[in-house]
Amino acid sequence: MPRIEIVLSQIRDNARMLSELYGQKGISLMGVSKAVLGEPSIIEAMIQGGVRFIADSRIENIQKMKNAGISTQFVLLRTPLSQAESVVKIVDISLNTEIETLKKLSYYAKVHNKNHQVIIMVELGDLREGILPCDLVQFIRETLTLSHIKIVGIGCNLACYGGVKPDSKNMEELSQLVERIEKEFQISLEIISGGNSANYEWYKSTEDVGKINNIRLGESILLGCETVSRKAIPGLHTRAFQLVAEVIESKKKPSLPFGEICQDAFGNVPSFQDRGIRQRAIIALGRQDILVSGLKCDRKLEILGSSSDHIILDSNNQNLQVGDEVNFNLDYGSLLAAMTSPFIRKQFIQKISDKIK
Ligand SMILES: *Cc1c(COP(=O)(O)O)cnc(C)c1O
Repeated sequence: MPRIEIVLSQIRDNARMLSELYGQKGISLMGVSKAVLGEPSIIEAMIQGGVRFIADSRIENIQKMKNAGISTQFVLLRTPLSQAESVVKIVDISLNTEIETLKKLSYYAKVHNKNHQVIIMVELGDLREGILPCDLVQFIRETLTLSHIKIVGIGCNLACYGGVKPDSKNMEELSQLVERIEKEFQISLEIISGGNSANYEWYKSTEDVGKINNIRLGESILLGCETVSRKAIPGLHTRAFQLVAEVIESKKKPSLPFGEICQDAFGNVPSFQDRGIRQRAIIALGRQDILVSGLKCDRKLEILGSSSDHIILDSNNQNLQVGDEVNFNLDYGSLLAAMTSPFIRKQFIQKISDKIK
């Protein structure tokens, strides 16, 4: 069975180093758990590393972490109207952009005798979630009339859909909006959440982070990189996750298919380059498990193509044997898919150094 090996101590180290780094300018961290489906031991490692909150887009993942006994402040990154009652019951803080949803959250919070905390998301150009800045004051005014909702913060999210880069301009805009809201309504907002793993360059280059005092990090903690240009962050581990799969066929074959070419399994008409007879291998892993384009192999193996359950490699004349294991590094898309596949076993590896720490 293919497996993903997860070095927990490296995830903890990454969380710790990032907490310290961002902490230098007063920014706290939310560890984002969605890519690993809220896997409790990974989340424990993030918490040991010093993240203040755990944030996930799915309530099911948050429920799983709570069931596993994880105790922290849980933040829901995406708030569906239909789940309002569960949100109020299970989650401490949710991110919101719709007044209808907030009304329902307030209604259920009253039913359950609670106050529900919310962070209002502002649109700063990426065109995923957010209230347009020109509508923000009115939106906050309406939200403040809801009896069981407490606005604890303002946030924004960039570099997700539109690929818009966090920079001093949009970050200053967020700070200014916060100042305006605080003044207008005579409230003080605790959490100003400026973004995600794409905020690293902005953070490093800015002298003044303004009102921003929080950031939500998934990929930086898990894979050790920022996400504007996917550069490794100095001092972080970039190989905490390794995918391991088995060779199930290894043969010398022509590089050009023979017979009439029609469509492949996914409806594409493939084309090939003739490189003569090559040593090829097939591994037991496919598109049902993984985003193949996000795999990187250490040994000089070249991925030629894939189907639902097979990846075809050119083994560059290395003599792979049936039963051998091949290791891959993963990007965010592959990590997401691998963690979600029921066919990939999750194996946690605790480095020996853990015991002495
Ligand atoms: C997924 C997500 C994050 C984390 O993004 P990374 O690039 O993994 O750091 C942060 N904020 C929101 C709203 C998200 O949905």
